[in-house]
Amino acid sequence: MKYCKKCLTTDLRPNASFSDCGVCLACQYSQSEKSKPGHVKLEMLKSKIRLIKAQQKSKGDYDCIVGVSGGKDSTRQAHWVRDRLGLRPLLVCCGYPPKQMTDVGADNLSNLISMGFDLVVATPAPQSSAKLSLESFETFGNVCKSTEMALFSTVPRLAIDLGVNIIFWGENPALQVGDSAVEGVDEFDGNQLRQLNTLTTGGNEWMNSVLSDKRLKDHYIYPSETEFNKKKISILYLGPAWDDWENHENSTYAALQGLTLRPGDLDITGDISEASMLDEEFTNINMMLKYFKFGFGRTTDYVCERIRENKLSREEAIPLVEKFDGVCDDTIIQRYCEYVGISKAYFWEVTNRWINKDIFHTVEGGRPVPKFTVGKDYER
Ligand SMILES: [Zn+2]
Repeated sequence: MKYCKKCLTTDLRPNASFSDCGVCLACQYSQSEKSKPGHVKLEMLKSKIRLIKAQQKSKGDYDCIVGVSGGKDSTRQAHWVRDRLGLRPLLVCCGYPPKQMTDVGADNLSNLISMGFDLVVATPAPQSSAKLSLESFETFGNVCKSTEMALFSTVPRLAIDLGVNIIFWGENPALQVGDSAVEGVDEFDGNQLRQLNTLTTGGNEWMNSVLSDKRLKDHYIYPSETEFNKKKISILYLGPAWDDWENHENSTYAALQGLTLRPGDLDITGDISEASMLDEEFTNINMMLKYFKFGFGRTTDYVCERIRENKLSREEAIPLVEKFDGVCDDTIIQRYCEYVGISKAYFWEVTNRWINKDIFHTVEGGRPVPKFTVGKDYER
C-alpha cells in the first residue's frame, strides 16, 4: 500500500492513479487548478451550458436538473445554479425509505422547498430497498450499493422523461478524490459518471433475486448512452467552477441558509466534518467497510481535501485519520441489523469476509487492527 506524497490517499483506492513522482490525481489537479482564476472557469462553464442548451429539443419549465440529497452540498448547488448561473432548476432527490431517512434529512429537504425551489422526490419501495441492501452487503461488502445506484440513476431517468438536457452534480470524483475511471474530456464533464465503481461493479444481475419486475429494477439501473444521446443530455460538475468548492465551506454556507447539521456525534459516526451524510446513517457503516477493504475511510477523504487547500498539513492530518477512520458505533450497526433483519453476529461474519487481511489483523470477537501506519508506505 502506497501513500500519495502530498496527501494521505492510498493506491488501494479503486481506480487510483499516481504520477511517476507518487502524487495522486486529485493533488495533481489541485496544483494545476490554482493557476486558473475563478472567473475564467465560470465563463468556461457558462459557454458549455449555452452549447448544450441550444441542443434541447423542447423548451419546458426547467433549464436543468440538480441532483440533491438534502445535505450541505445540495443547498449550495441549488442556490448557485439559480442565483449565479441564472437558470431555472428542478431539484431531484432520490429519497431514502422512511425507516432509513433521518429527521434531519427530511428537515433539510423541507428547507430547500421553503427557499422557493421545485423539488421532486422519488423513493424506492421500502421492502425491496432493505432486501437489496442486504444482498449487496453479502455480495459486495457494501451496504449502500443499491441506494447509490438508485441515487445516480433516478436523476438522469427523470431528465430523459422530462426532456431537460443538463444535469448538474457538485463534485467531480476524478478530481476531488482521484477516481480516474470517471475522468471526462475536461473538469466539468460528468458524462463518464456511468463508469463509477459503484455503478459498474457486478453488473445488474445480482438484483434479480430481489426484483423480478423490470419496472422496479429500472429505478436502479443507469440509463444507457443511447438514451442520453437521444435527448442530448449532458452532465456537468459545478465544483470546478467555483473557487471554494470544498466540504467545509459548503457546510458553513448551507448552515447559514438554515441547514441542520449533526454536531456531537463524532465518536459515533467518525465524521469529523459533522456535516456529511445527514439524511441517513447507514453510510457510516459503508465508510467503516471501505476502511477495512482499502485501508482508508471518510476521515482520509476529508483531511486530504483540507491538505490540498493548505488548511491542514499532512503531519497534522495523520492523528485525525488514525483516530477516526473506520469509526462506526455499535448502535448504528444494531439499527442496520434490525432494518435488514439479521443478527449482529451475522453482520460481523459477513464483514469479516471483506476485511483486507494483507493490511489488517483480524481479532476474534473484536474489530480488526491495522498492520500499517498511516502515512507510511506499507509492504507485506
Ligand atoms: Zn494526493
